[in-house]
Order: sequence, then C-alpha cells, then structure tokens
Amino acid sequence: MKMKSLPTKMPWRSLRGKLAKWYGSAKRDLPWRRTTDPYAITVSEIMLQQTQVVTVVPYYERWLKLFPTWEALACAKEHDVIKAWEGLGYYRRARNLQALAKAVMREGGRMPRSEEGLRGLPGIGPYTAAAVGSIAFGLPLAVLDGNVMRVLARVLALRDDISRPQTRAKLQEVANDFLDKHDPSTHNQAVMELGATVCLPRKPLCLICPLKEGCRGRDRAEEFPVKSRVAQMKHAEIVAIIKKGKRFYCEQVPEGKPWHGLWRFPDFDSARMERGEVIARIKYGITKYSVTMQAVSAKWKVAVASQKVASAGPCAGAVGAGDLQATGRYLTADEMHALAFPAPHRKLIQFMQRRSMTGALLPSVFLT
Ligand code: SF4
Repeated sequence: MKMKSLPTKMPWRSLRGKLAKWYGSAKRDLPWRRTTDPYAITVSEIMLQQTQVVTVVPYYERWLKLFPTWEALACAKEHDVIKAWEGLGYYRRARNLQALAKAVMREGGRMPRSEEGLRGLPGIGPYTAAAVGSIAFGLPLAVLDGNVMRVLARVLALRDDISRPQTRAKLQEVANDFLDKHDPSTHNQAVMELGATVCLPRKPLCLICPLKEGCRGRDRAEEFPVKSRVAQMKHAEIVAIIKKGKRFYCEQVPEGKPWHGLWRFPDFDSARMERGEVIARIKYGITKYSVTMQAVSAKWKVAVASQKVASAGPCAGAVGAGDLQATGRYLTADEMHALAFPAPHRKLIQFMQRRSMTGALLPSVFLT
C-alpha cells in the first residue's frame, strides 16, 4: 500500500549515514546498550514502552539483579515480579514478561531468531519483535514507536493524522525504506535516540540535528506530527483509610480490574463505612483518565465491624509477602512496605508515614 501524499524521492541513503555517524558520537551510555543478551534487551524494551529512560534505568538494574535470566524470571513468585515493577505502571507488562519467560523456557531457554517466531511469543507485538529482533539478533526489522513516528512525520512534513491506523501503516513503510538493512540495530536505536534527545516534541533542536538537510518539516517542526487529540476524562474517587491500632485496612485488587494483584486502600463505601477527615488529595493519570483521589479517614459501621471480627480469621493476622490469598487485611507498615501498591496509594502511604512521624502536624495536602 503506497501512500500518494508521501514524497517518493527522499535522500534516505545520505540521511542514514549522517544519522549513524551522529549516533556514534552522541548516544547516551545506557545499561542495556552494554549487553548483547536477548533477555536483558527484551526487559529494557518492555520497560521502555510508555516510560522514560531516566525512570527505567534503576528499575532495569534492580530487575536484572533479582531476575538475571529467563529461568530466574520464569521461576519467580508473581508477587516478587509485581513488587519489582512497583511504580513503573502498566503492570500488565510485568505479567507479560513473566509469561514470556515461561514460554522461552518451554522452548529450551532461547528466543527464536525470526520475526515470525518472536511474534508467536506471548506479549510480543510488532514493536517489541522489531526492537528485540534487530538489536539482539540483527534482523532487518524497522521499529515504529512514538519517537520514530515523530521524526519521520517531520522529515516528510506529513499532514496525515498519526493516530489513524492507516497513517501508522504508511509510516511503517517509510521506516522500512529508511532502515539500514546492514546494521538495523544501530539504525533503530539511532532514530529512537534522535527522537528522545534532539527531535523533541516541543522545541526540537533542529540546528544540531543530523537530518536537518533532508528534513522537510525543519522550520515548522512543531506543526508535526498531526494528531487528533483525545480529550482526557476527569474522574474523582474517594478511598478510605481505616486504622486498627498501627495497622491499616487494605485490599488486594482482584483479577480483571486495573492494578490486578496489587494492594490498595479500599474505595470509600457509605453503606459500610463512616467518613472522617480528609487526609490528602492525590492527582494521577491512568489511560485516558485524569483522576483526583481523595483519601479520608473512615471506620466500619457497627454492623459491618462485628461481621469483620467474625470473619477475619487468619486474615486479621500478619501477612507475609508470599501469602496473597485474602482480598482484605489489616497491614502493618512493614507489610505495606513489602507488598506492591500502585503509585498513588504508595504516595499516600509515604505521606501518612511522614505525617505520623511529625506528630500529625501536617495538614491534609494535595499531592501530584
Ligand atoms: Fe526533527 Fe528538526 Fe531534525 Fe527535522 S531537523 S528531524 S524537525 S530535529
């Protein structure tokens, strides 16, 4: 499928050479660039999806210490995997990575060295197959992520909306044409690096860009890429902070819900709880939602409290990191530290710890 509006004559060959030369001298020294291990490269590629390099580096290094091989990851407890991912968000990636490790171990501990083989593995989509295939195995596959789309849309001064699947398909064609088939690893990393450090979303550094001479969008770069805006939807929620001595009531998120497997404070439920003071307000974003989470102190209504006592059983006691059967428990500070919480709830725990250390002198605050 050739796109009529795409310029057919682009000086890809000379741009390729300039890009590779620039990358050789300007690339950042990142830990996953010092390895040829397909496992480590896969971990980095999956962590880097939707997450910035600076955030990923410490997670990547800690992950490889905890799970240095496919085998170590395949055999790890799910809780330990989620805990190691805590704070990176999009937790499905952690589960997919472990599912991938199990699949690789079933195949003898080696990843397949073909695009088809890679795409047949769980959790490997077109982007990851191209990134891992080219970087780890030298396969001539062009990557297309947000950075690459921005660079190519600007080089071509492309007016098509990049949120449309047809435009993405066409940009994939362009990326394939641009790819250096002799060194796809360097080429792919170079385009992504250019998008991350030079062809920035705002205020691109065109003066120092190796592609500036062939770039059609150079003097009007901020007009590209064209992308229809998806309006962020506002959402408000209230969570309940229920204390029993020094322990806090938390629930493990059941399967099928966002944050599945992680722990969190419960939603405030006026049928079962009585509401007290506002402790904090936290803003966070998840997919297309901009969420304002209000944390309030609460206690169980009398009837519920007596049911709780009756049904608490072993759940009322201490919980170990490996014991995740019950959905609701009172947790100590150490247990909350050991278990995985989503970022906004972790922020709330940290705020409450600071508040208790300062003798509850901190007022309720807005945390972002
Ligand atoms: Fe991006 Fe400017 Fe380079 Fe074009 S010249 S690719 S707009 S940084």
